[in-house]
Amino acid sequence: MKKLIIGNWKMNPDTKVEAQRIIAAVKKAATKLARTSVVLCPPFVYMPLVAGKGTSLVALGAQDVAPEVQGSYTGEVSANMLRDSGAAYVIIGHSERRAMGETDESISRKVARALEAGVSPVLCVGEKTHDSEGLYMEELRLQIRHSLSGIERKDAHKIIVAYEPVWAIGAKEAMTPANILETTIFVRKTLSDIFGQDKALKIPVLYGGSVNFKNAGEIVDLGKVDGLLVGRESINPPGFVELLKVVEALSK
Ligand code: PEP
Repeated sequence: MKKLIIGNWKMNPDTKVEAQRIIAAVKKAATKLARTSVVLCPPFVYMPLVAGKGTSLVALGAQDVAPEVQGSYTGEVSANMLRDSGAAYVIIGHSERRAMGETDESISRKVARALEAGVSPVLCVGEKTHDSEGLYMEELRLQIRHSLSGIERKDAHKIIVAYEPVWAIGAKEAMTPANILETTIFVRKTLSDIFGQDKALKIPVLYGGSVNFKNAGEIVDLGKVDGLLVGRESINPPGFVELLKVVEALSK
């Protein structure tokens, strides 16, 4: 399986010119990648900039989607609109959105809308604190179960799970590769309990939380994840391009 690197730009950058500069650098770097897939998730208004020339190199994703199909929902963007705008992926349930009031219930409806529209949901899950007693595991288990409630087994392989411990997002340091390995094994086990082992094995499990070009190699290699969800480093072209090179070199 190719490694999947997803850049979450969040509410950055301020201008279209800067967005174009980042996209151009990433598309150029992507021409040299054979074993690494790149997805950029800019704010909605910049999505057409990624969707243009070179989408075969860099796939397009969105940062959120409406839980409804269509209608009177001011400010919302539907899964069908995302698909029609060229998006192949959508981040759902990011902790920053959960902090704004997003619930597992609305997240599960968003996952369902994305699947119906043919857009791959990138479901974000992660504990708020990583206690040494392992209580975080129950938090994580319930989050995964509830966020995927009602999702049919036949669609499981179209889902991507991004394990993002909340305390490691926007932090100084990422989680250690050993802890990433341990926790993502638990994430995979939970997915297997929901969908069965054969289906769960097809779900890519990514890590996200303070990844940069310096730690990306050991996180993918020792943490044994299928890819990365990258925040800050994805809007820093030199760092992100280097990160892509490091991941690509690992898969040789
Ligand atoms: C994120 O927002 O998903 C994220 C991982 O952010 P950062 O890489 O900046 O910690």
